Amino acid sequence: MQIPFSPPQISEDAIESVVETLRNGWITTGPKAKQFEENLTEYMGTEGTVCMNSATAALEMTLRLLGIGPGDEVITSAYTYTASASVIHHVGAEIVLVDTQKDSLEMDYNQLEDKITKNTKAIIPIDIAGQLCDYEKIFEIAERKQNLFSTQNKIHQILNRIAVIDDGAHSFGAQKNGVPSGRFADFTTFSFHAVKNLTTAEGGAVTWTKDYSQYGIDIAKIFEVAILHGQSKDALCKMQKGNWEYDIQELGYKFNMTDINAAIGIDQLDKYDDNLKRRKEIVEYYEAHLNPEYLETLKHFDNEKESSCHLFLTWIKGITEEQRNNIITRLAEEGIATNVHYKPLPLFTAYKNYGFDIKDFPNAFAHYQNELTLPLYPQMTDEEVGYVVKKVNQAVSEVLI
Ligand SMILES: *Cc1c(COP(=O)(O)O)cnc(C)c1O
Repeated sequence: MQIPFSPPQISEDAIESVVETLRNGWITTGPKAKQFEENLTEYMGTEGTVCMNSATAALEMTLRLLGIGPGDEVITSAYTYTASASVIHHVGAEIVLVDTQKDSLEMDYNQLEDKITKNTKAIIPIDIAGQLCDYEKIFEIAERKQNLFSTQNKIHQILNRIAVIDDGAHSFGAQKNGVPSGRFADFTTFSFHAVKNLTTAEGGAVTWTKDYSQYGIDIAKIFEVAILHGQSKDALCKMQKGNWEYDIQELGYKFNMTDINAAIGIDQLDKYDDNLKRRKEIVEYYEAHLNPEYLETLKHFDNEKESSCHLFLTWIKGITEEQRNNIITRLAEEGIATNVHYKPLPLFTAYKNYGFDIKDFPNAFAHYQNELTLPLYPQMTDEEVGYVVKKVNQAVSEVLI
């Protein structure tokens, strides 16, 4: 049996919709992208959403929207994908990393509070595997440190404290007490990369929770201009006969989402809740059948929270990094693709060169060294899930003998 890690699930409807888009004469950012944004906003119940060509672009543009740059510091977790941190560098600010908690993949909130200085302008928590972070606590900390905060940026002045930007690349569809991901932070960014729960092949979005229009600020418009060359009119608008003239209002970026990508996204969102149900079933099956003597698993549900079941993380008790890697090789030989989430950032060359040392992140390292992520995607059959369970239980028990 061959079990890939996370193949995309593209429906016949999506394929038809892409073909229709290719035939209808409008392939770049236009009505489909607008529709997808409206559908996302409605699904989450947020104030507005702008789609871009990646979550990385959405994170970077959110930092820029708030005027964050040289001289500023932004805090994120050492236990994440590089994009959560590299964007801080892209805007010219300083990356500040925080270790995880001992028993959780969330940031150590005490350390987070300690690392806040008068230069700290934003915190980027990551909803690892689709588990929402403790936003109440994060906002409490941001409020407690309000006296240190200052900004020249008009939009950031409205928040008047450190901004909380949720890297929700894993958490689309997660919820706490019925409130969906996207509604917890000031801004939340999502990734629609091919391996994510909801995909447009490549793509991302930012959504926000405050009504800035009461201050005369149109956040969507600011993002739209900034991600399309700083141009005053979008391509569709310029296409109208005789309407050629435009201004370049700023030296902008090129981060827009095409209608071809949006066509896939609209269909993915239509089918999202059904897919999430199937992801949950698979998670429950894994939880019930993986051998607890050898394996610990990340909890996806509690009384308040339900994750988006993006990734199934496990920890094999008492093994070394090398033994974990041997298990990955063995499973690959049995046709099962697995992964590791995450190798902490300070273990990578670029972050070492930046000045980080893994010794300062002992909890993140401990979570990493015996971690094994299993395949999880809605089109997995019961038979395939059963096969993974059997082979994983076998491999871990044999390595531990
Ligand atoms: C995938 C991912 C990103 C980046 O998403 P892109 O759409 O590829 O830019 C950022 N953060 C996390 C945690 C991710 O998993």
